[in-house]
Amino acid sequence: MGTKGKAIVGVNVEELVTVLNKAYADEWLAYYQYWVGAKVASGRMRGIVAGELEEHANEELKHAQMLAERIITLGGTPLLKPEDLLKETNCGYAEPSDPSTKALLKQNINGEQCAIETYKKLLEFVKDKDPITYHVILEILKDEVEHEEDLESLLTDMS
Ligand code: FE
Ligand code: FE
Ligand code: MG
Repeated sequence: MGTKGKAIVGVNVEELVTVLNKAYADEWLAYYQYWVGAKVASGRMRGIVAGELEEHANEELKHAQMLAERIITLGGTPLLKPEDLLKETNCGYAEPSDPSTKALLKQNINGEQCAIETYKKLLEFVKDKDPITYHVILEILKDEVEHEEDLESLLTDMS
């Protein structure tokens, strides 16, 4: 990152890269959880649920991309090893061992709620200190709020 670009970041850049990498780990795991969940989904409203999970998978991958770009601009390196994703994650990975659409929805709602909490904290961390990261995180948080709502209304439709 350019000299001035770095100078306007009002938080410790190394610490910022660390927390962004943790969110980056969450996004890859969320991507895979949605992607593979869409493949194995079975039971009620299977087509609709699988379609929504697949859409969310693509959006989580886009979040990973946004975070990777910001990490690189800050002079950091996105996590390079898959095992580090599991080591650094905030929200973990919920294996979709029960492929019923209801169980998948519940698992992914939990994941979204953790993501919302994580990004809310991240927003507070950079607020008034790094407007560019703030903007990136705000965009992602907006999607996570929408994801939670989508899944909750599918679960409601189901019961
Ligand atoms: Fe995400
Ligand atoms: Fe999400
Ligand atoms: Mg959606």
